[in-house]
Amino acid sequence: LNYATARFMKSAPTLAQCPPDSGAEVAFAGRSNAGKSSAINALTRQKALARTSRTPGRTQLINSFSLMGNEALRLIDLPGYGYAKVPDAVKREWQAHLSDYLYQRQSLRGLVLMMDVRHPLTEFDQLLLGFADERDLPVHILLTKADKLKKGPANASLQKVRHQLVEWEDLVTVQLFSALKKDGLGTLSERLDRWLA
Ligand code: GDP
Repeated sequence: LNYATARFMKSAPTLAQCPPDSGAEVAFAGRSNAGKSSAINALTRQKALARTSRTPGRTQLINSFSLMGNEALRLIDLPGYGYAKVPDAVKREWQAHLSDYLYQRQSLRGLVLMMDVRHPLTEFDQLLLGFADERDLPVHILLTKADKLKKGPANASLQKVRHQLVEWEDLVTVQLFSALKKDGLGTLSERLDRWLA
C-alpha cells in the first residue's frame, strides 16, 4: 500500500464517534513523547498529518486516516498517554477509551506500539500488551529514536525486548525505528501491508 495516500478523516472523542467499524484498520499507540506522531508522519511522508498534543489534560482524540482514497482502509492514531501532570481521573478516562477501542473494534487488524528505544516496556506498554493479548491482537513494536543510540546498544535493546516478550512471540514483532533517519520504514510498511491486505 502507498501510505503517502493517507488523508485525515475525522477526530473522535469516543469509540462511538469513530468511523463505521467495517473494512480494515491498524492503530498506533504509545506513551506521550514516544515518537508516535513522528512515526506516522514519516510513514505517510507528510510533515504534519499527526500532531502531538502539547496541552496536557486536554481531551484526547482518536484520529482516523483513510488510505488510497478508501475509507474502509484506515490508520488510527490513538490518544497519547502518560503526561505526568494529568489528573488521575483524566488518565482513567483515556485508559477506558483505549481499552474500549482495543477490545471492541472488529476492523482492527493490529496494533503498532511505539516505545522509546532507551525506555522500552513501561507500565503503560505492558498494559496495552495485556489488552492485545486478551483478544489475540497482533502487535508490532517500534523501538523509536534508534538514532539516539549507537548500533551496538540499539541492537542490545532490541534483543532484550524480544527476549522479554518471548512468551508472546507468536503475537508480537519488534524492530528498531528512526523517524529522523527514516530507518525502518520498509519493515514497518511490510508489516502493515500484511495486516491490511
Ligand atoms: P508523540 O508524543 O509520541 O507523538 O511524540 P513525537 O512524535 O511528538 O516526538 C516526541 C519528541 O521526540 C519530539 O521532540 C521529536 O522530535 C522527537 N523524536 C521523534 N522521533 C524521533 C527520532 O526518530 N529521532 C530523534 N532523535 N528524535 C525523535
